[in-house]
Amino acid sequence: MTTIKKQMSRRRLIKHGAAAAAAGAALVTPGGAAFGQAPAVVTGRTFRAWISRGTGRGRTTLQDVRLRPITGRQVVVRTEACNLCYSNVGAVLGIQAAPPAAAGANPAAVGLAGANTNDMALIQGHGGVGVVEAVGPQVRRVQVGDRVCVSGTPQCGSCYHCLRGRADICQLLGRNLPGDLAPVAELRDGTPVYSNSHIGGLAELMVTVEEWVVPVVTKATPVDLGMVLSCVSVAGLGATTTGTLAVVPPGGTVAVVGCGPLGLSAVQGARIAGASTIIAIDPIRARRELALTIGATHILDPNAEGARIIERVRELSSGPTSRAWSGGRDSGGRRSGAGADVVVEAAGAEFVRPKLEAGPDPTGILPMQQAYEMCSAGGHLVTTGLVRGTIALPAFLFAIGGITHSGGQAGGANPMRDIPRFVEMLDKGQYNAKALATRVVPLQDVMGAYEEVAYRTTVTAIMTV
Ligand SMILES: [Zn+2]
Ligand SMILES: [Zn+2]
Repeated sequence: MTTIKKQMSRRRLIKHGAAAAAAGAALVTPGGAAFGQAPAVVTGRTFRAWISRGTGRGRTTLQDVRLRPITGRQVVVRTEACNLCYSNVGAVLGIQAAPPAAAGANPAAVGLAGANTNDMALIQGHGGVGVVEAVGPQVRRVQVGDRVCVSGTPQCGSCYHCLRGRADICQLLGRNLPGDLAPVAELRDGTPVYSNSHIGGLAELMVTVEEWVVPVVTKATPVDLGMVLSCVSVAGLGATTTGTLAVVPPGGTVAVVGCGPLGLSAVQGARIAGASTIIAIDPIRARRELALTIGATHILDPNAEGARIIERVRELSSGPTSRAWSGGRDSGGRRSGAGADVVVEAAGAEFVRPKLEAGPDPTGILPMQQAYEMCSAGGHLVTTGLVRGTIALPAFLFAIGGITHSGGQAGGANPMRDIPRFVEMLDKGQYNAKALATRVVPLQDVMGAYEEVAYRTTVTAIMTV
């Protein structure tokens, strides 16, 4: 019965779409062929959005835009909350030191059509949460009225990566160059407006595509939900609780290098997964102290420890049985201590010098190298930070040291599988979102809050609409 109802409702929807197209064929959106293939079903509606264009400071401004007709698999979401992602600092504030290959944060990306995103009016923002307001006729995954996460990572479900359980690197992830984007709205003068990476969270409406949307069922507040489902929290929980890249053994040791919202989510994930020793490392005192309140058992300051920090982690993870013939974990005297079972690197490069304590290396290379050396033989390193430069590692250790490294886009999170679990962690009190959402601002105050994120005077900031 339910199935029949659904089919009928879908047929009506398609019929409605065809009628709308017949009434206004000129409104059908061109471009972005892979993402808008069917007749329009929704037209016009104005909304405010933070739009970037050009280069340098001041490139992002709050503007009124008009929604274009929605087609194919497009989804319109009324935004409830969106995290101000640090990896988006360069694109939003127009700071040049942007690290390469940030998801959706590469302002110089040039697409197949030869266009440059700097020339395009682009709605900024990574993923957010909200309520579905309209869907194109081909959409199956969500319905109007659903509460959803617009994920920083898409999941098509039919590419090779999705099929082998690695939706974290879904083929659509890289489909965010100018030639891939369809205009979703327009400025007053008719200039087409695009959603950054098909997401565009910093707006009253997110105009996205089905593959980027995950339905969630929860009564959580917009701020709490926006925090736990931010791209960074998903990556931190992904690295520690999904098992895609590394399995945190209950009773094991986890070291987290870098305690921004991603690292602090990894600390919480390590606690949720049952790790008994959780070592949080960050140059900023306030972040180390926060880590202690949400699951860290030890904290280390990389500035105070210097090169000794590797040894400190190895000592802390040695355990009481580190001797021969008794289940010992050390490396037979070749190196001190044992090393962590799982190390999550979440430091990354700095866009600007922090106003709080700066780390030992603004490129993020040193923390990443140290993270590798903190890992135990047979352990796993998951790297998530966006760094600048080239990594150099001790060749012997790299070659036969027994360390498994995973490049952790989204921490290995599989959106459709894992995001509902992360919501459970929030709803059941396992994940503390409030501790991490240290700044909450309305839409119009986003730029000021982004400065705070850039200078690291807040752990992160959540925009609400
Ligand atoms: Zn992000
Ligand atoms: Zn895929």
